[in-house]
Amino acid sequence: MKNKQHIATKLQYNSGLPLKAKITPILKQWIKLKQKVKDAILLFRMGDFYELFGTDAIKAAPILNLVITSRDKYKNNNSVKMAGFPWHSAKNYIFRLINAGFKVAICEQLEPSKEKNEIVKRDITRIITPGTILEEDGLLPKINNYLVSILINKNLYAISILEISTGEFLGTTCTNQDNLFNELTKIAPSEIVLTFKNIDINRQKILTVKLKKLDVLIQIRKISNNINLFNNFKQLDCWFNEHENKQSLLAAQILLKYIKETQGYIPKHIQPLKPYSINEQLIVDAISRNHLNIGNSKKISTNKGTLINIIDKSKTAMGGRYLRKIILAPSTSIKIIKKRYNIVNAFINDFNARKDIRNILTKIYDLERLVAQCAMSRSSPKHLGYLRETLGKIPDITYKLKSSKLKEINNISNEFNFTNKLFIKLNKSLNANPPLSLKDGNIFCKGFDKHLDKLKDNYNKSIATLSNIEKQECKKTGINNLKIKYNKIFGYYIEVTKSHINKVPNYYIRKQTTINSERFIIEKLNIIETKLINDYKKLQNREKELFIYLCNTIANQSKELVNIASAIAKLDTLLTFAEISYENNYICPKILPKEKNIINIKNARHPMMEILFAEYGNAFIPNDILINNEKNQIILITGPNMGGKSTIMHQVALLQLLAQAGCFIPASEATISICDRIFSRIGASDDLNKGRSTFMVEMSETANILQHATKYSLILLDEIGRGTSTFEGLSIAWAVAIYIHDIMNSRTIFATHYYELAILSSKMSRLKNMHVSALIKNNNINFLYRLMPGSESNSYGIYVAKIAGIPNKVLNIATRFLLDLKNNKNKLKYLINKKISNTINSQINALSLINNNKIDHNEKDAIYNSQETIILEEIKKIDINNKTPLECLNQIINWKQKLNK
Ligand code: ATP
Repeated sequence: MKNKQHIATKLQYNSGLPLKAKITPILKQWIKLKQKVKDAILLFRMGDFYELFGTDAIKAAPILNLVITSRDKYKNNNSVKMAGFPWHSAKNYIFRLINAGFKVAICEQLEPSKEKNEIVKRDITRIITPGTILEEDGLLPKINNYLVSILINKNLYAISILEISTGEFLGTTCTNQDNLFNELTKIAPSEIVLTFKNIDINRQKILTVKLKKLDVLIQIRKISNNINLFNNFKQLDCWFNEHENKQSLLAAQILLKYIKETQGYIPKHIQPLKPYSINEQLIVDAISRNHLNIGNSKKISTNKGTLINIIDKSKTAMGGRYLRKIILAPSTSIKIIKKRYNIVNAFINDFNARKDIRNILTKIYDLERLVAQCAMSRSSPKHLGYLRETLGKIPDITYKLKSSKLKEINNISNEFNFTNKLFIKLNKSLNANPPLSLKDGNIFCKGFDKHLDKLKDNYNKSIATLSNIEKQECKKTGINNLKIKYNKIFGYYIEVTKSHINKVPNYYIRKQTTINSERFIIEKLNIIETKLINDYKKLQNREKELFIYLCNTIANQSKELVNIASAIAKLDTLLTFAEISYENNYICPKILPKEKNIINIKNARHPMMEILFAEYGNAFIPNDILINNEKNQIILITGPNMGGKSTIMHQVALLQLLAQAGCFIPASEATISICDRIFSRIGASDDLNKGRSTFMVEMSETANILQHATKYSLILLDEIGRGTSTFEGLSIAWAVAIYIHDIMNSRTIFATHYYELAILSSKMSRLKNMHVSALIKNNNINFLYRLMPGSESNSYGIYVAKIAGIPNKVLNIATRFLLDLKNNKNKLKYLINKKISNTINSQINALSLINNNKIDHNEKDAIYNSQETIILEEIKKIDINNKTPLECLNQIINWKQKLNK
């Protein structure tokens, strides 16, 4: 007895209810249910409200802007805290809780409210977590919303990925943590179920902390030694085949078990587990993805201007998701890539097929999610209407595919292998415009179900009787404006305006008086009301039965329907590739095996910049690039700031990625061999929250590249060694270039302002110097954006600083300092020469003079504006052999005048 009491007290305490609080029967019921979902916020249905109690109310109130109240106002410390909101606006409240990272458990009343405060049956009907959302209207993002299970066993990481809103179920494994994190940042899950096996507590802790940084809800699960989580493995045959890796199977089982825990069952639309290998994909890690601006954010606004955003012209939600998937994980299979090229090419050539099918696709709804909603009993009549409309468009698509003269297009129709029986069924059953909610009725057509028609007849007759009663009473009483009306409190009643009140007969029973009228009931009305309510209930029940039957019919065909959805997704994506290729003059690259190690692109353009430039009427300058095993393994680009070095690097990587995704590319000609990974280290940024300085970030990223790149990888290195002292930075850059050349052999583009590195070309046979240049004219810098052989020693940093708005006084000093440095033949020696301190001191003096405004003539005296730099450049470039003595004299006079200004 004592023990029982102790357990009850503990339960009460754990649920956040004061120990001395009065526990009413309803609170007892709440405590019992709360124990099942300790880690969730429990929304407890009480009539028209969801109520939250104890710590749930305290946690949720600030997020939901709810006022916390208590049941008993006088026993302050011992009163039960509570908060609540109306059930009909639940979606919005749930959304806010999920967004705040909570799990939400919904407890419903399982029977109608009883009289005299009797307790009704209640139970938890659903647990909503970020990875198991199914509702549209803002709750569910348009892009994939993945739930992931990770099983970490020694050094093997099994990943199982499920999207409950589409039924997609994938699995893979990796053997190192870097790959695990790369994969996770690509999948961008909303929730992770994490399980450890054979791992010490310390490693578990470190890994959990690292995973939590991905900003997802993490659920940690314990695992027993029994490998099979489900007693009857046969049950799982529809999802797995025996040959799969045991750890993958286990990760997938954990995921399904989690679905069962949260949803109460495993829905039918979940597809068989599809294993994939990360080696079949071009890997671009999260940092490189970010640098290249590929775009993988769930927030649409953050994706603006990214590669995905620019090329995603898909017409369906399914196409959008698929396009995103293949841009984030391009293929390494020449066969798959070429197949895509052939289809893209065919659609470019068949303008009508492309235009017509894309037109049809605009009328297609999100079939994947519509099927999932049916399979999980979250559909509405309107959704079934959308599904019917979508299925009705499939024959139009196949017709258009078959009508093309091109066999590549005709062949796609085989993937739309679907009889339109379901469409016919939906067409025969559903009304033209099914309502949003089941309660609204009028869902089904006449003739679909005899029983329903009969019930409708009965109901309509009862309505007609009601209208007859109204007419009869008007006639009998002589009250011509007598009306039969309805309200929730006393049902049907007769309303008589005050002006006719003296005509009301005796058998009218008064119910209510309003300002202008009196309300009555009569026996006849009571009888017909009971019949009407009865008829209506029967009608509603039958509509519900039929609706569930239709949903089940759809769910039973989910496999075929999901296949159709997948065919639509692929078709839409390839049509999009064709459309953007056609619109922007993209060409089909020649794709070669990775061993050929070549990137040879003529007139390459940057896919995003080109489009953005065009919007402002500006032209993008194309460039050629050649990387190969012979003399061009490392391309070392020097040249001015703002000269276009990073742009060239980016565009090569983006074109490689697009080519492997199966899309055409912005160029005039291209031969590209498959590459296994793209690495990009660009710019300088710190990561102070993780305790890493700018230089530390730079070195960690470089280390990652040097450790993981293979000879088939494409490496982009922009500005290595800028975050430390000049000598050390230069030495690191120098050593990295040698290491890549001699040991790694990876295809590399190396952009740098250390023009001293250009000397390396004389020592390394496969390093090629290239540069971008600029012209200085009339004291203005003109960038050419042309990639040309050779190196460029001038960075024109001070010119760029001027454009950026650095004050003239600072520019003057910088220019004088630069000239001093340049005039000294051996700059590096000069830097360590004692003279440098004198120079610096003199500049500091100059600065303080300027700051104190002690010299007014400094602007006039300025070297930057006085053209010294420009004159020096002009002298260097002058072609004396092609000038007359007079021209030379004039030129000297001109220079002199400039200097004397
Ligand atoms: P820094 O050395 O200062 O980092 P950078 O040489 O890497 O500069 P980018 O950042 O590539 O220069 O380019 C600077 C700007 O020049 C771009 O933002 C773009 O506006 C313009 N630009 C670059 N390449 C081209 C091009 N091919 N055609 C037209 N404009 C270009």
